[in-house]
Amino acid sequence: RLEIRNLAKSFAGKAVVDDVSLTIAPGNVTCLLGPSGCGKSTTLRMIAGVEMQDSGTIHVDGALVCDTVFRVPPERRSIGLMFQDFALFPHLTVGANVAFGLTGPKAEQEERVRHLLSRVGLEGYRDNWPHELSGGEQQRVALARALAPRPRIMLMDEPFSGLDNRLRDGIRDETLAVLKEEGTGVLLVTHEPEEAMRMADEIALMRDGRIVQIGAPYNIYTAPADKEAVAFFSDIN
Ligand code: ATP
Ligand code: MG
Repeated sequence: RLEIRNLAKSFAGKAVVDDVSLTIAPGNVTCLLGPSGCGKSTTLRMIAGVEMQDSGTIHVDGALVCDTVFRVPPERRSIGLMFQDFALFPHLTVGANVAFGLTGPKAEQEERVRHLLSRVGLEGYRDNWPHELSGGEQQRVALARALAPRPRIMLMDEPFSGLDNRLRDGIRDETLAVLKEEGTGVLLVTHEPEEAMRMADEIALMRDGRIVQIGAPYNIYTAPADKEAVAFFSDIN
């Protein structure tokens, strides 16, 4: 369970994230949805620990991960990351990429890698190099790598935006199925209402650094909070 409370961040005196609070339950997918520049990535970067908030707290499974004085380093937060520009390591094979964050007995690591690669349909690719794979295949390896250490929470920032339209729906559905199977709580950032409607258990609608509405996709879609939310959703086609 991820709990962020009253998170805030300004750059050069301008509030980019303004009093954001969210809870992500295990096994649930929450989409942080909003227009470009509203502060989605900045929110995710603070949760990941690569950006420091000005105020507010972050807890994972009840344990404090970060406030304004105390800070657990990113690699010890039990948080998996999948960002569009978070590429595979080019000098490691597919299998070594997936094994990268693993510790413990070699045999268990190998079994985890085998399981995840087969789960994303790439069992035969363990010894291939990233550049030998298509964009969609690389994306699936990235998912396997992020999930390998069994993170409590997955943060995904526009993970499908680099894929062409033909591939995107299939990979979205497949990714969702794997995430549900692993039972990981997910915070997925997107500026596309359609993607949020397809993937979310809960949508948090963000604008100008603030969460303006939180709810089930159907409720948000049928009863947007205000005129600007209506306009934002009317771009769905
Ligand atoms: P997009 O959908 O385009 O990715 P976003 O919602 O992820 O947008 P952010 O990347 O969080 O938006 O940026 C929010 C605002 O904060 C933008 O106006 C951006 O220019 C500004 N910003 C982000 N990081 C910095 C920084 N390090 N220094 C100064 N301004 C920043
Ligand atoms: Mg962004």
